[in-house]
Order: sequence, then C-alpha cells, then structure tokens
Amino acid sequence: MRTRYRVSVDNDRCRRFGICADEAAQLFRLTPSGGLRYQSAVPAEALAAVQAAVRSCPTLAISLEERR
Ligand code: SF4
Repeated sequence: MRTRYRVSVDNDRCRRFGICADEAAQLFRLTPSGGLRYQSAVPAEALAAVQAAVRSCPTLAISLEERR
C-alpha cells in the first residue's frame, strides 16, 4: 500500500525533549547521544500516534503532510 503521509522535523526548533518518541515510538526515537531519529514515511496504522506527536511537540518542530 502506498504511503500517503510524511513527517519532517525542523532541527533548528527541535530541543530533543523526546515527547514525540513517547507519543509515536514507531517513528521517533532519541539516540543515546541525545539526537533525534525518525522515519519520514508514516504507515497508516501509525497516523493517529503521529498526529498526537505533532500536537504534543512543545516547539512545534514536527510537520505532517499528505502526499498525493
Ligand atoms: S517533541 Fe518536538 S522538540 Fe521534542 S524531540 Fe520531538 S520533535 Fe524534538
């Protein structure tokens, strides 16, 4: 099935709080060195969790866009 949503993180805004990883561990994780890694393609089953991560990010660093 084709992925229709993608996320991106603005590294200038991200402060590595890790709230996104709490909300959507399928896509986001903090590394042991304090960086943020994420998968940009959003599987359909993870969409609700990613939307929660977008809402929860205190610096509004996460963008979610639909690809047609
Ligand atoms: S919640 Fe926002 S600021 Fe925190 S790690 Fe995730 S993207 Fe960065």
